[in-house]
Amino acid sequence: MNHDPNCVFCKIVAGSIPSRKVYEDDELLAFHDIAPWAPVHFLIIPKQHIMSLADVRIEHQSMLGKMLWLAQDLAPKQGARNGFRTIINTGSDGGQEVGHLHLHVIGGPRPWAKG
Ligand code: 5GP
Ligand code: ZN
Repeated sequence: MNHDPNCVFCKIVAGSIPSRKVYEDDELLAFHDIAPWAPVHFLIIPKQHIMSLADVRIEHQSMLGKMLWLAQDLAPKQGARNGFRTIINTGSDGGQEVGHLHLHVIGGPRPWAKG
């Protein structure tokens, strides 16, 4: 599986950086964001290192669909019972800070710190 030893999220997948896990399977990992904007804020990532949404290929379509399916499955279980926001930041103009594809799932009762 594609792995970048210098990537923070690859280190989380490998377990060398700890995280608060929400979900894991062979392909995907979900964990709580270290700096949450809202009562619920977790990230869904592919375990393989894909830098951003600008780097996906057609072969990734089922994995990308599963990321969205998982967002709506996990959000209410994590406490987002009245809706949630999903965000994928892509590239520098898109505000992406970590270069490993991730889907933010943000929700819970307002007010939020951000967003
Ligand atoms: P981006 O701006 O790239 O879309 O979002 C990156 C997100 O990753 C930020 O919300 C940031 O708080 C989160 N993050 C960065 N480093 C870590 C980390 O080591 N652990 C966890 N759990 N989240 C992180
Ligand atoms: Zn990575």
